[in-house]
Amino acid sequence: MSILANNPALKSWVDVPEGSDFPIQNLPFGIFKTDELEPRVASAIGDYVIDMSVLAEHGFFEDLAIDTTVFSKPFLNDFMALGREKTRAVRNRLSEILDTDLDDWDASELKEYFLHPMHEIELCMPVRIGDYTDFYSSIEHATNVGSLFRDPKNALLPNWRHLPVGYHGRASSIIVSGTDIHRPKGQQIPSNSDQPVYGASKLLDFELEMGFVIGKETKLGDSVSTANAEDYIFGLILFNDWSARDIQKWEYVPLGPFLGKNFASTVSPWVITMDALEPFRVQGPTQEPEVLPYLQYEGKKNYDVHLSVDIVPENGQSKTVCQSNFKYMYWNMCQQLAHHTVNGCNIKVGDMYASGTISGPEKGSYGSMLEITWRGTEPVEMPDGSQRKFIQDGDTVVMKGYCEKDGVRIGFGDCSGTILPAK
Ligand code: CA
Repeated sequence: MSILANNPALKSWVDVPEGSDFPIQNLPFGIFKTDELEPRVASAIGDYVIDMSVLAEHGFFEDLAIDTTVFSKPFLNDFMALGREKTRAVRNRLSEILDTDLDDWDASELKEYFLHPMHEIELCMPVRIGDYTDFYSSIEHATNVGSLFRDPKNALLPNWRHLPVGYHGRASSIIVSGTDIHRPKGQQIPSNSDQPVYGASKLLDFELEMGFVIGKETKLGDSVSTANAEDYIFGLILFNDWSARDIQKWEYVPLGPFLGKNFASTVSPWVITMDALEPFRVQGPTQEPEVLPYLQYEGKKNYDVHLSVDIVPENGQSKTVCQSNFKYMYWNMCQQLAHHTVNGCNIKVGDMYASGTISGPEKGSYGSMLEITWRGTEPVEMPDGSQRKFIQDGDTVVMKGYCEKDGVRIGFGDCSGTILPAK
């Protein structure tokens, strides 16, 4: 499948700084607003957002037979629901509009109307999320956690290699990058005690994850196969699944995570389309033992996305505490979706699915402080001489991601959140 907008040779008449997340080959979708402009659909190039509704008003999408009111909506849901064929056509047209070598579109004359410098706008939550599911699909993460909390010799539970383990999370507290979070409070069990106490979490952690967003619904009772799963996925975002380890530890048996997880999850503001990610497919890890037929798949279903996590103390110098990669995932998105729907559970446009913490094989590639500091026993040294076992008040956690190949670098934008003291 050849996607015109992905051509590495393309250059835009809009200046794109070296190392930008948003070259002409990316063209992600998000939502922005200003003091004057209501939230609306945007794309990005270089240091600018593109007001899609203005391009639509000027007729740039007229021949694509789409309902262009979708560009004036405060969430991407209606745009995504147009379907892969039409959203692909929009992205391809956008590429033509921004292309230096195409004279058909005199868009540069209108640039003051549809381009806004990123520092003058506010990025909003891109999707109205219906349901949210969190998986647990990194074998390195599951092995580390199993070793820390149970038994290194039997770190993985018996089901782990047979199905992508997951749970239903909470959508209401998923927030866009840049939104502050108060340290959560709740019940914890002090070590050497059988009586819980109540208070602010002392073991506040991040989880480095990626999320995918659904762009096509199914009917109740229907299932999605691994072969068809990609038709239902609109794109990917970065996802920080904040976790209060002390609250989680006391509450999680027998029904799994609850208040230790649902106080906040942060997403990056741009949805990177599956089309833009097409050149970065890679083979996933070998699955042993062989999985059941409904989970088997063909082709390259993993993606080579470099990931990093920085901790930035208040008024301090940042420290990179993790460098990982989405390609390490044992269970891929197609398997997750096939498993999620195998029982007939329906999916809806705007649903969000997170990968689970993405840890790599080596130290330095672990995707949570729990693993990085090995449950607090090996603290991280910060540039100012302080130590971190977990996240402190005033710390900002910044996740970044990018793909790179053939001189093209596709970035995800920052997924950032600051921890404020407990309310
Ligand atoms: Ca998680």
